[in-house]
Amino acid sequence: MKTDFENESFEDDDNYQGDTNGRNSFAERVRSNQRQLTSQLRHQYDFIVCGSGSSGSVVARRLAENPDVSVLLLEAGGTDDVPSVIAANQWPMNLGTDRDWSFQGQPNRHVNNRSIPFSMGKVLGGGSSINVMVWARGHQQDWDFFASEANDPAWSYESVLKIYRRLEDWHGVPDPLYRGTGGPVFVQPAPDPNPIAPAAVEAARMVGIPTFENPNGRMMEAAKGAAISDVRVRNGKRESIFRSYVFPYMDRPNLTVLSQALVTRLMFQGKRVTGVEISYRDAIYRIGAAVEVVLSLGAIHTPKVLMQSGIGDEAELRRLGIPAVQHLPGVGQNFQDHCTVTYYLP
Ligand SMILES: Cc1cc2nc3c(=O)[nH]c(=O)nc-3n(C[C@H](O)[C@H](O)[C@H](O)COP(=O)(O)OP(=O)(O)OC[C@H]3O[C@@H](n4cnc5c(N)ncnc54)[C@H](O)[C@@H]3O)c2cc1C
Repeated sequence: MKTDFENESFEDDDNYQGDTNGRNSFAERVRSNQRQLTSQLRHQYDFIVCGSGSSGSVVARRLAENPDVSVLLLEAGGTDDVPSVIAANQWPMNLGTDRDWSFQGQPNRHVNNRSIPFSMGKVLGGGSSINVMVWARGHQQDWDFFASEANDPAWSYESVLKIYRRLEDWHGVPDPLYRGTGGPVFVQPAPDPNPIAPAAVEAARMVGIPTFENPNGRMMEAAKGAAISDVRVRNGKRESIFRSYVFPYMDRPNLTVLSQALVTRLMFQGKRVTGVEISYRDAIYRIGAAVEVVLSLGAIHTPKVLMQSGIGDEAELRRLGIPAVQHLPGVGQNFQDHCTVTYYLP
């Protein structure tokens, strides 16, 4: 086992060619900066953010906005600079590839014993690089429920609505009460929707379901509703959260983005997390975090890495031969997903 990066030199993964294949000068700066940063990995960073998906990208960027802190963003997957990620209409081409963790549900008698595929992004940007690009806010009642469960009004709808407005760059009909402009998240009404979409909304209206100009304003305060989706697509190209948040900061000296790096477990001093162990280029390394480790590995891998680290239900950990650091029986429980009916017309 290797315990640090001293005397190691890593070559560039060729991740950041940008959208003009390296001719873009910002993309070139990113490339040479990240080549340098990842070839001289340090023993310790102030913050280590694990997982570059929708949540990890935002956290890493917001931390890196402070030039006095060093941030390491770790990602198990590889480059997002591939046509099937960039071109919006190619999104299904990522499913089942090496950019997808490609989970498979247990065979279930309620779906005729089928084993339903369950995709999750394994690439810079995580789900935001392989998803369907629909911009969908949470409902008022859900946010208010989170706030009451957490006993923290910061999670309330009123509070989160301000954040939504602040982060959006809305390119539909102006609606300053509900929609924001000038933020990092480009959103627009679905351009040129298939005629089935307005017909479905009209059908909803005919059976008494209220219809809305878009799903992300007043509809999220209503008891029910139908609208055509807003999307994170600009000029036919995907706008991933990684590209909106992390990429613009990747020319900075305090943000290192390491792809193909699998976080295997947390390191502790007593019960305090002091860093992470990663598998990178056929070796195991340990990297310290002076301030904090953030686990943003998605709904399957976050509890998995916690359990591998000894945080979870003690009896289950014992069964797996993992010494318990903290008995926390909720870890890995109560997974929920939504169902959807999608059609794809190439
Ligand atoms: C096919 C598909 C379509 C979707 N469509 C939509 C949509 O249209 N609109 C919408 O709002 N949502 C959609 N979603 C869901 C949305 O993308 C996710 O809810 C969101 O990305 C979750 O963010 P996250 O940060 O929690 O996890 P993720 O985005 O999944 O990020 C987790 C990251 O951690 C990395 N990781 C995992 N384990 C490790 C490890 N051990 N070490 C290092 N890195 C690791 C993963 O590779 C991944 O990059 C879709 C998802 C999929 C898969």
